[in-house]
Amino acid sequence: MGSHLLSKSSFIRGVQCEKHLYLYKYHYDEMDEISEMQKAVFKRGTEVGILAQNLFPGGTDLSPESHTDYDEAIIKTKESLKSGKKILYEASFQSDEVLSIADILLNDKSGLKIFEVKSSTSVTDVYLMDAALQYWVIKNSGYEINDFSIIYINNQYVRKGELDLSQLFIVESVLERILPLQKWVGENIDRLKKVLMQDKIPEVDIGEHCYTPYLCGFYNYCRKHLPENSVFDLSGVHLSTKYEMYRSGIISLEEITDEINLPQSAQIQLDVFKNGKNLIDVDAIKNFLSDINYPLYFMDFETFQPAVPMFDNSRPYMQIPFQYSLHYKKSKNSPLEHFEFLSDAKGDPRIPFIENLINDTQSDGDILVYNKSFEITRLKEIAEALPQYKKQIEKMIKRIKDLIIPFQKKYYYTNEMKGSYSIKYVLPALIPELNYSNLPINEGGLASLTFESLYDEKSQEVITEKRKQLIEYCKMDTLAMVKILEKLEGIV
Ligand code: SF4
Repeated sequence: MGSHLLSKSSFIRGVQCEKHLYLYKYHYDEMDEISEMQKAVFKRGTEVGILAQNLFPGGTDLSPESHTDYDEAIIKTKESLKSGKKILYEASFQSDEVLSIADILLNDKSGLKIFEVKSSTSVTDVYLMDAALQYWVIKNSGYEINDFSIIYINNQYVRKGELDLSQLFIVESVLERILPLQKWVGENIDRLKKVLMQDKIPEVDIGEHCYTPYLCGFYNYCRKHLPENSVFDLSGVHLSTKYEMYRSGIISLEEITDEINLPQSAQIQLDVFKNGKNLIDVDAIKNFLSDINYPLYFMDFETFQPAVPMFDNSRPYMQIPFQYSLHYKKSKNSPLEHFEFLSDAKGDPRIPFIENLINDTQSDGDILVYNKSFEITRLKEIAEALPQYKKQIEKMIKRIKDLIIPFQKKYYYTNEMKGSYSIKYVLPALIPELNYSNLPINEGGLASLTFESLYDEKSQEVITEKRKQLIEYCKMDTLAMVKILEKLEGIV
């Protein structure tokens, strides 16, 4: 790792929690597995960083060959600055055993201008901490800094034709906000270096700090002592209330007494857990079902969210629908039919998506979804981007009904739902033989990543396999709805 003790990320880690810093440095093997979603977020950050370099073209890239080459990268940075190179990417600095790498640096005779690139859409406190640390390191390496800016994504930018980087990115000077943090940075560097000199893991109990600014990578490691059904499994209870209970010694669900006031849904969860009897409000379910009319469609969308808009009339991080599954039943007892659409990942999926959807939902009848705000919002976004479909979309929206209601309102609740009304919990609780666990793609985030990866995929074999997995996943979502509705109908 070179000769540094702290880096920008380990500094942030240490500010969050000393134990986190220590575990990361000396017990890395204990860290939770990095999910595909987290890997995708890192990859996105790198890609956005490279794209932002085009705001200052023609620079010299000083990225180290590997994570062990920082010492050489620091020397190269020094030489480049000395020789008067004007624009540097990934310039490395070190002071007092703290390493800092500047995404983009402009070298002017009067001083440096530093730019830190972020793939998010605002300047947050943690970015200021991060910038303050970088300023401290570079300044203490003996350089004058004229300005320090954060470059982040403008979520109001709507792409029209070629990507306009000057519209996509916002460049905001944070110099005035990081100068007052310099003393704080110095003090924390001293404190964290001492932590790393200790010969045992710092004693820090779990708490609200484990979630901010980032969910800690040792989350599960630090929670090995929690029983299977703990206060942290209660749904709809504020995190601070859960930690209050934990700190007062109430850890397992059994330990919660009647004196503790819980929100209604959490109280139901607790009662069902304690008495082991499912909650089924037949009248409420009957009432809900009386508003569901056949012929009936069961509909589900999948979307992806490119940070950098890929298509005209789309904004950064906009959810772009690329796939749907539709099951259809003409009447309660008629055979089940299935329709689906999956974009070929060769251009903007929205036009073929909406045209196929309008065509496939032509018959009368309600359209059942699970959590209607998601599907309705996506449809409204398409109507805004493609107004030629507005009328048909408005008609479609009027037909939408929501199957989440009986579970969200706890008309039907079993212990297996673990306080959740997500279809991923409701389905195995109601129909154990049908679940997502055997599917290679088993949640929406992974479906998005898989689809996005198809845009760059060259192997036809991989494309075929991934498309098959996406179709299986989306189909399961609507089949799940069919089975859940049948279960409710069976009850009444
Ligand atoms: S899980 Fe919490 S207590 Fe454990 S290391 Fe991470 S932040 Fe610290």
